[in-house]
Amino acid sequence: ATMREDRVKRTKTVCTYCGVGCSFEVWTKDRDILKIQPQAEAPVNGISTCVKGKFGWDFVNSEDRLTKPLIRQGDMFVEATWEEAIALVASKLKTTMDEHGPESLGFIASSKCTNEENYLFQKLARSIFKTNNVDNCSRYCQSPATTGLMRTVGYGGDSGTMKDIASSDLVFVIGANPAESHPVLATRVKRAHKLHGQKIVVADIREHELAQMADFKIHPNPGSDLVMLNAITKYIIEQGWQDQEFLQKRVKGYEEYVSSLDKFTLEYAEEKTGVSKEELIQLATMIHEAKTVCILWAMGVTQHMGGSDTSTAISNLLLVTGNYAKPGCGAYPLRGHNNVQGACDFGTMPAWLPGYEPVENDKVRARYEKKWGTEIPKKPGLNNHQIVEAIMDGKVKAMYLFGEEMGLVDSNINYVENAFEKLDFFVVQDIFLSKTAKYADVVLPASPSLEKEGTFTNTERRIQRLYQVFEPLGDSKPDWVIFQEIANALGANWNYAHPGEIMAEAASLAPIFAGVSYERLENWNSLVWPVAADGTDTPLLYEDKFGFPDGLARLFPVEWTEPLEVGEEYDLHLNNGRMLEHFHEGNMTYRVEGIAKKVPDPWLEVSPELAEERGIKTGALVKLISPYGEVKIRVWVTDLVKGKQLYLPMNTRSDESAVNKLTSSYHDKITHTPNYKEMHVKMEVLEAE
Ligand code: SF4
Repeated sequence: ATMREDRVKRTKTVCTYCGVGCSFEVWTKDRDILKIQPQAEAPVNGISTCVKGKFGWDFVNSEDRLTKPLIRQGDMFVEATWEEAIALVASKLKTTMDEHGPESLGFIASSKCTNEENYLFQKLARSIFKTNNVDNCSRYCQSPATTGLMRTVGYGGDSGTMKDIASSDLVFVIGANPAESHPVLATRVKRAHKLHGQKIVVADIREHELAQMADFKIHPNPGSDLVMLNAITKYIIEQGWQDQEFLQKRVKGYEEYVSSLDKFTLEYAEEKTGVSKEELIQLATMIHEAKTVCILWAMGVTQHMGGSDTSTAISNLLLVTGNYAKPGCGAYPLRGHNNVQGACDFGTMPAWLPGYEPVENDKVRARYEKKWGTEIPKKPGLNNHQIVEAIMDGKVKAMYLFGEEMGLVDSNINYVENAFEKLDFFVVQDIFLSKTAKYADVVLPASPSLEKEGTFTNTERRIQRLYQVFEPLGDSKPDWVIFQEIANALGANWNYAHPGEIMAEAASLAPIFAGVSYERLENWNSLVWPVAADGTDTPLLYEDKFGFPDGLARLFPVEWTEPLEVGEEYDLHLNNGRMLEHFHEGNMTYRVEGIAKKVPDPWLEVSPELAEERGIKTGALVKLISPYGEVKIRVWVTDLVKGKQLYLPMNTRSDESAVNKLTSSYHDKITHTPNYKEMHVKMEVLEAE
């Protein structure tokens, strides 16, 4: 090799964007990223990537990166040394705890950061600050899916892997838009459709890419998916199409469940969902005729008042038809962030220690207390919705948040901002001065994925290692290093030299990670949890037993929660979601020049019918108004949406068009996930074209 090639460094990493979990090599020279080179060995994606994974990395070298700790002085931030910043954070959190009790602290974790960092953060909250008030952004997305699966099959994760999705006879996609939100997964579905005749069935209110190519699609009224699911399950049972043997051997609660379906007749479903009886029968027949069925779902299901129950109804349908525990089958809640699965798995949740063991369980807690050498609180803590409420009530007084743009992605952000302002002390740790960070008292500069080691867990439950590409920029530090310094400032004496040691500790405590080690995860190797002590992993769950002590699955009866109506004045339904090119609040992708140039702003999708009625064209400027706030946005007239449906991507960089100015504080009954998708607005035309 020439001298020049010698200086090119190749490092394996895992994508920092969505939950598909693509891995690839980053080719660099000094701090320049030369290219992203996928390799056939990558377990999820092989040689595929999407536009974000391939081109979305310039943000790492953005001049907006935070490189020094900042401390608020009046209306300004002043640069500080790490010693000053750590001492201030440690002492303020400690005095708040001493004066107002551990319950006065809130900890918000990051689904962008590594498993090891999330593990250490919940250890910090529980063992140093004695609170279970720790949560992560799955509260905004897939907590309802986790509940639906925990109720019925026992583990809060996808029941198989992409391989199962790709080899399935029929893929049923409900309230998800994989072509934009999980692009490489969608590519695999499209390929299976084309090459192996895999059937695609879509239930969605929007005509997205997979809907356009589906073999069969329905458009149930917003928020009526549970009725659709229960009605087709009832119809399947009436036809005698249930998998009797599977139900007898492996499932409990059949009789009671069947009687809970009484009211979900085809007539009732037709009335509530707007989908005809004939279409519902066709859907049920296709599911019956398919040898194997996978159901994929996302925010269109979960972000409703009844999101947990609809997720449960999905799992019930899979149980009744025997579509669990064999290849090509199962439940696939599609995880949004690169590590939202891992953040939950490693215990940044108010009721669960790592590996989904209840914090209330004395035996489980004793295991942690022994290892950590200190007591941890028994009572489950507040989730992030409850933390915001408790700030408003004056009960939570200080908050520590890392890698989460809560001030843009939580619902009803005008309200959330008021809460931030009420805090006595607020620490934000991020790679940029995010909108949330502007409310902080101390801002700590962290390092993005390319500047640290660790592991991410993708939507399949697959744990993969990322290797350090660059040194941390300026004085920024990996998040786990910062947590350790804060703990040690309060006398903890943690001495992790490498994230591998943190993983070893987690593996020694949480049974589902028993056999996880950095040695077993080297390079392109990966492990899909649960991982037995001998290193055997579990790509396909439930082959022998479901995740309950008796090994049996449970059919769990659910009732329909009608979506919230806001009154006639708000006459349009506003849906929201992702677009391919940008990720979430856009803090990273809008700092990638190529992407930001190509897609500089989001737009509002308006149906041709509505555009005609209101006399507007593509390019018009409108104001949307809900009871909670208003936004201004340009219009794109498209038949992706129908009638009085609007669609606004959440990926905004401008405060003026942030969809969460419009959303409410209403939420799923069980998990408190905001009902982002139950939103009604009125529209005022500012410029017609
Ligand atoms: Fe990254 Fe997801 Fe794109 Fe893969 S599909 S490259 S994980 S954003």
